[in-house]
Amino acid sequence: MADSVLSAKPILERFGLTGRTALVTGGGQGIGRAFAHALGEAGAAVAIADLVIERAESVANELREKGVDSFAIACDVTQPQQVETMVKSITDKWGGLTIGINNAGIADWTAAEDISESNWDSINAVNLKGVFLCAQAEGRVMLEAGYGKIINVASMSASIVNTPQKQVVYNTTKAGVLHLTRSLAAEWAARGVRVNSISPGYTRTQLVDDLLETPIGKEMAPQWLALTPMGRMADVTDLQGAVVYMASEASDFMTGNDMVVDGGYCLW
Ligand code: NDP
Repeated sequence: MADSVLSAKPILERFGLTGRTALVTGGGQGIGRAFAHALGEAGAAVAIADLVIERAESVANELREKGVDSFAIACDVTQPQQVETMVKSITDKWGGLTIGINNAGIADWTAAEDISESNWDSINAVNLKGVFLCAQAEGRVMLEAGYGKIINVASMSASIVNTPQKQVVYNTTKAGVLHLTRSLAAEWAARGVRVNSISPGYTRTQLVDDLLETPIGKEMAPQWLALTPMGRMADVTDLQGAVVYMASEASDFMTGNDMVVDGGYCLW
């Protein structure tokens, strides 16, 4: 038998993304922006999609300043036609799509007894249906090419119930993302498309900062830190290594997996 350890590409080369093309939804700020920078620094060309085109443009500019091939796309991930157009604009420009990061998501802190139907529907539309629509459009291109890496952004809230805030809809959608990931992974594994998820713990972004501005947020923050073994929230850069690993050939035998990056929150 050939000795693969001696004949394989050097390990850091296998983490590289040169020649890959990537899409990051909700990439105009926060975690998505950090993912876009990480993928670009690792060698990929990166398309930035967001609701507000100016925000996506600004991140695409940051990447181009680093010498990364990048462009911005306006896309609401809840709209199938816009999702199709987004993916087509990438294949038209770059001839293919190898990495899809389905990151756009919204949060909500309404008590279960007060949640309206429209509240339920709007959060599900972005966090669950939006992830499915993007994965489906990306998957079609990747299946055709016989290779691809889809990474859905879930949350530790997919596996635990946060406290003290109430977020039943958010938690439920994120749990759905994990099973959506596993289901797509099983369907597409034999055709070269890997589907995994990343589950961050509390991470300092606009989404969390907005909450921390509220009286309840100020009250909750110390509890979050006390419940996190590492005693701090993540910086967005804490998540970058995991996404590069999952996007690269170094993780080619991994599919249907969830990588939790939470400072140990889920341990207790
Ligand atoms: P941000 O709110 O900072 O960024 C999310 C981006 O997605 C925003 O630019 C937002 O635009 C955009 N977006 C919202 N809805 C849509 C839509 N329908 N179509 C396209 N883009 C949309 O969030 P984070 O960076 O904090 O979160 C990114 C992901 O990480 C989310 O899925 C979130 O659930 C997840 N996550 C975050 C954690 C945290 O602690 N921050 C922890 C665990 C998971 P706009 O601002 O205009 O709405």
